[in-house]
Amino acid sequence: HRAVMGVSNLEKYNEDWINNLKGSSAIVLKPKSTEEVSHILSFCNDNNLAVCPQGGNTGLVGGQLPVFDEIVISTELMNEIISLDDNSGVVVCQAGCVLESIDNILAEKGLMVPLDLGAKGSCHIGGNVSTNAGGLRLLRYGNLHGNVLGLEVVKANGEILDCLSTLKKDNTGYHLKHLFIGSEGTLGFVTKVAMQCPPRSKHTNVAFLGTQNFGKVLKTFKKAKQDLGEILSAVEVIDSSTMEFIDEKLNIKSPIGEYPFYLLIETSGSNESHDTEKLNTFLETALNKHFILNGIVASEPAKINTIWSIR
Ligand SMILES: Cc1cc2nc3c(=O)[nH]c(=O)nc-3n(C[C@H](O)[C@H](O)[C@H](O)COP(=O)(O)OP(=O)(O)OC[C@H]3O[C@@H](n4cnc5c(N)ncnc54)[C@H](O)[C@@H]3O)c2cc1C
Repeated sequence: HRAVMGVSNLEKYNEDWINNLKGSSAIVLKPKSTEEVSHILSFCNDNNLAVCPQGGNTGLVGGQLPVFDEIVISTELMNEIISLDDNSGVVVCQAGCVLESIDNILAEKGLMVPLDLGAKGSCHIGGNVSTNAGGLRLLRYGNLHGNVLGLEVVKANGEILDCLSTLKKDNTGYHLKHLFIGSEGTLGFVTKVAMQCPPRSKHTNVAFLGTQNFGKVLKTFKKAKQDLGEILSAVEVIDSSTMEFIDEKLNIKSPIGEYPFYLLIETSGSNESHDTEKLNTFLETALNKHFILNGIVASEPAKINTIWSIR
């Protein structure tokens, strides 16, 4: 269906993921192409009809929900991969592609999306761009201002802006794309995204560590950056009250007992023995210097997922 109406059908578009906010839109439109988005927006603009862009509806601050009865324009049907160049690692796709689906397609070419977040199975790349989503790999790959090479956007009056460059070393100015990254649909509707994607790492290790105080967390973080260098792919900090909350609500316990602070450190690279040796040397130093008190390391996918589930 290209237009959704009726209270029960509209529920999933009018409520957010945590059932915290509720809008009262009476219609959701699902364009398939940039031209359709352009026609919808120019009609709404001419007739003073308010609109609300929506991707995967995983936003946690409600920007994707109508405040009153705005027309929701969903990217659900804009889910085509337009091109994938495995030499440059550049993927061009429509805004409604689900992040995890893009990642699965990239995996076949030995590539990966440069951002990863808990909502990856539902969020759309257009929503990620519009929120400048950070996620778990920001430490290694940077944010979307760097990874998005180009955008196609439809302005509120229906005009199509083609900034869909696929060139990484583009030294020309001005880069209008930056205005749309993180602007939550206030300046235009993102219809296509060109994004650079790094090679997929062959080997991953995850360490889960306990520390005495936040000062030691910072020391461990600094040492991890110095010692692990290019293989460091993620660092997360969890304090004891968050861990208690996770235990109470999700029945997930710390695998190393109780500590005031915990650190999750992930490495990923191309050489298993080199990466593991580097991580072990770092952990030994951190233990000897009393930056950390205890820890475990996982390298099998199931165990890695168990540790990541705490995050
Ligand atoms: C379990 C979970 C984990 C999460 N983890 C993270 C995290 O680690 N880091 C992080 O940054 N966020 C995180 N989020 C928040 C959320 O997933 C991100 O903000 C995500 O980028 C939103 O994408 P979406 O497609 O769901 O967008 P939506 O929620 O549908 O929309 C978000 C905003 O973007 C606008 N928008 C959507 N599509 C377009 C478009 N095509 N053109 C213009 N505007 C548009 C909407 O109007 C709205 O303002 C998490 C959410 C959940 C539920």
